[in-house]
Amino acid sequence: MLPMKSKLNIVIIGGGFAGLSAARQLRGSRYSVTLIDPSLHMEWLPNIHEILSGRKQGDELRLTRHSLLRRLGHRFLANRAMELTNTAVLLDNGMRVPFDACIVATGGVHNSFGVPGADRHALPMKSVAQCQAIARRLQRAALSPRDARVTIVGGGIEGVEALGEVLRAYGRRRQFEFSLVEAGTRLLPGKPASLDARIRSLTRSLPVSYHLGRPVAEVARDRIVLASGAVVPSDITIWSAGVAPNGFLLRSQLTSEPGQWAPVSGALQSTVRPNVFIIGDAADLREMGLAKQAYHAMDMGRCAASNVVNWLQHKPLQAYEPAAKPQVVTFGELETFVVFRDFALSSAALGPTKEAIYTLGLLQLSPPASTRELWASLDRLQRSARRVYLPALNPIKLWRKLPATQVLN
Ligand SMILES: Cc1cc2nc3c(=O)[nH]c(=O)nc-3n(C[C@H](O)[C@H](O)[C@H](O)COP(=O)(O)OP(=O)(O)OC[C@H]3O[C@@H](n4cnc5c(N)ncnc54)[C@H](O)[C@@H]3O)c2cc1C
Repeated sequence: MLPMKSKLNIVIIGGGFAGLSAARQLRGSRYSVTLIDPSLHMEWLPNIHEILSGRKQGDELRLTRHSLLRRLGHRFLANRAMELTNTAVLLDNGMRVPFDACIVATGGVHNSFGVPGADRHALPMKSVAQCQAIARRLQRAALSPRDARVTIVGGGIEGVEALGEVLRAYGRRRQFEFSLVEAGTRLLPGKPASLDARIRSLTRSLPVSYHLGRPVAEVARDRIVLASGAVVPSDITIWSAGVAPNGFLLRSQLTSEPGQWAPVSGALQSTVRPNVFIIGDAADLREMGLAKQAYHAMDMGRCAASNVVNWLQHKPLQAYEPAAKPQVVTFGELETFVVFRDFALSSAALGPTKEAIYTLGLLQLSPPASTRELWASLDRLQRSARRVYLPALNPIKLWRKLPATQVLN
């Protein structure tokens, strides 16, 4: 058991977008804050698809949790939380960490929906390491004279962005063919319908086929079988579809059934344990119609951190009010979409938008505090400038791309 402090203890479980945002908000508070996450690095997930084309390297998408938390004056434990009691977290090494209030930000996990063969033959893309594994498979296929059939399962944002990157690197290689399979009847379900038509028109001259409205029934080493019985030959199957709740929620009785996201009040307080706040992907906010997105997770982190303090000080809790923000979806070098409610702006000239969010987001999460960190930030910035900002500002390219800008609804 860790030594008790005289201060009240706040424990944050999970150091992704939501957990780290809560930790930042609690900087300088008079509470003792401990963040628990088994992984030493926070990963910038919204850009991990760029690893598939080699446009980004893993180190550009990782931040070291130890230094982030040291700078905030908090303690970091590189452990997995196994279970919560009313007043303590039990860790994988047997340690028991007491708390007065707790923030749970354990995100989601890969979900293959129990499709036979999917866990064995399809490659998940939920982390830097998984995207690096896919990139290696693609590189090996590019070096081989044999045909390579690449299939992406899932036509949501992650799947479309992955297809864009794969096409960026391999779209013109003769031995490659691409398929995208989506259970919904169009690409980017939930986004303006015209995006589907726009994406397909952009790939008309490329070897891409779309299988929409057809769930996957089985995955084998060299093919996918759809629920309709149709067979899609596939040597490399990338699984971008689906996310499931982390088992920690059920083990800690924050949910009552497997596959449930944790129920919370409008102030992000657990409906089961009043001293626990649940944020980010882990929270069930379907009633608000919220997509599981990093920018919502960060807002929730700030709100929950304030509410934990309010709760400890017996003050009223504030309601979480999600901010409506535009969403940027890239499609490799072919197009970028800025989606806001029912509208989307579609242009290849918008490419630097996502890079700017990445550059500024990392700087905000980890402002350089030493010469070494300043050097790392400058290195990231110069790589972004060389690959994205400077080419995008090329007046000849801009002149060609701008007239093709469209407003879609
Ligand atoms: C490929 C991909 C592309 C995406 N693109 C976008 C995008 O363009 N824009 C956007 O806004 N969002 C995007 N998202 C979604 C976004 O990344 C998530 O909404 C966001 O990461 C959720 O943040 P979170 O903190 O709730 O969870 P996560 O970021 O998943 O963090 C959860 C953390 O909890 C830790 N954890 C899990 N279990 C335990 C445990 N038992 N004990 C301790 N720690 C634990 C994990 O190690 C992890 O660090 C994308 C996601 C993926 C996978």
